[in-house]
Amino acid sequence: MKALQNKILTDGIVLSDTVLKVDTFLNHQMDPVLMKEIGEEFASRFEDAGITKILTIESSGIAPAIMTALKLNVEMVFARKRKSLTLQDGLITSKVYSFTKKEENEISVADKFIQEDDVILIIDDFLANGQAAFGLMDIVQKAGAKVGGIGIVIEKAFQDGGKQIRQSGVKVESLARIQSLSNGKVTFVEDKPT
Ligand code: 5GP
Repeated sequence: MKALQNKILTDGIVLSDTVLKVDTFLNHQMDPVLMKEIGEEFASRFEDAGITKILTIESSGIAPAIMTALKLNVEMVFARKRKSLTLQDGLITSKVYSFTKKEENEISVADKFIQEDDVILIIDDFLANGQAAFGLMDIVQKAGAKVGGIGIVIEKAFQDGGKQIRQSGVKVESLARIQSLSNGKVTFVEDKPT
């Protein structure tokens, strides 16, 4: 998605060979116009998948997920990273190791929000080693529902998550695929090496 690639090139800060900071439009401040386009793009890529609900994880997945849900005319639910006082019984949980925070979180979704006949589109901001995506897929499977696909805003294709999920037979659509963050420079998968 060209508008997203351009935004990454103008605003993205390469923190290391493996970490990209995009806090001006995705991870802290959010760009509603770009987010609307992202939602429309995911919706068109999954329009034939029979999606009945979107699942994401707080907090940065929520904006692209709600825009996609609006376009597909389905509801969106986000997995919580911490148990809340009002969310205690009837939970489906999974363990997720966080790539950026280097800690394990138990993520949870109330079981009443995912039904056995649901076809779930999982949306997230980044795909690195796939821990978050596998945790969300685990929750869908525990609910007895079906994963209809995974939509990722920024995939770091040099890490293993995308390959592993695609090998498991699940359709993954990433709107920007980063080939490399070496030497402080963002290169996309489509780019010819310079
Ligand atoms: P994974 O679970 O695929 O290893 O990592 C995905 C999660 O880690 C995303 O939900 C995102 O929050 C975070 N993440 C992974 N890599 C990056 C990165 O390069 N930049 C930012 N901002 N977040 C990342």
